[in-house]
Amino acid sequence: MNLILMGPPGAGKGTQAALIVEKFNIPHISTGDMFRQAMQQGTELGLKAKEYMHAGQLVPDNVTIGIVRERLSQPDCQPGFLLDGFPRTVVQAEALQELLKTLDKRLDAVINIEVSRASLLNRMGGRLVCRQCGATYHAEYRPPKQPDVCDKCGGEVYQRADDAGPTVEKRLSVYEEQTTPLIEYYEQQGLLKHISGEQEVELVFQDILKSLGA
Ligand code: ADP
Ligand code: AMP
Repeated sequence: MNLILMGPPGAGKGTQAALIVEKFNIPHISTGDMFRQAMQQGTELGLKAKEYMHAGQLVPDNVTIGIVRERLSQPDCQPGFLLDGFPRTVVQAEALQELLKTLDKRLDAVINIEVSRASLLNRMGGRLVCRQCGATYHAEYRPPKQPDVCDKCGGEVYQRADDAGPTVEKRLSVYEEQTTPLIEYYEQQGLLKHISGEQEVELVFQDILKSLGA
């Protein structure tokens, strides 16, 4: 199964990705997670990505396409993959199409999670993430059992710098301007699955499975 998970920041992509990859046993490829990891490790990529991420802007297409090209070429993507947060621009979508052609792969579906602006603000405002394994929590709806400690790995749970202040608004407007054209792009290819993200996590997941005929 070769899948893309789309939706605005805070829609629940990472939350659903964890369930989808477990069900289909495919790797979860989140460009946001890859950039955060690089930032934490202080690599050249991390340093490059940092200024864009903290400003709520997109990391340049050539950098982002480069890391996805490298990742999708790895053998664990042979049985399938789930892209989360990529592509985010038409240039990235076109590069992905070319890349998949060279790898002799095809997309099976693009899952678009739809959530109101009010819920997005609420979800980003309360989001907590494990520094070690990337597991996602919400301060109100899904708090970790022990404050600031990840249930899964015991790592430290923190609030992302880009989930606070004016960066949140910037990310939403960048999404509107640069990423929403992809909805039409994949609609035209007959790949788009519309999923309401305004329901409990498990119900969103059930709708995703239904849309995939699984
Ligand atoms: P994205 O990867 O799309 O940015 P996340 O999966 O990190 O979004 O979810 C954003 C926040 O919303 C997290 O705090 C998560 O726990 C919470 N969340 C995710 N799905 C739901 C849902 N269906 N209902 C309520 N809260 C949710
Ligand atoms: P996310 O974890 O998906 O919310 O992404 C966090 C940040 O990483 C974004 O606000 C961007 O700065 C950067 N980023 C993630 N994916 C991409 C992408 N496909 N293209 C450009 N920037 C990205």
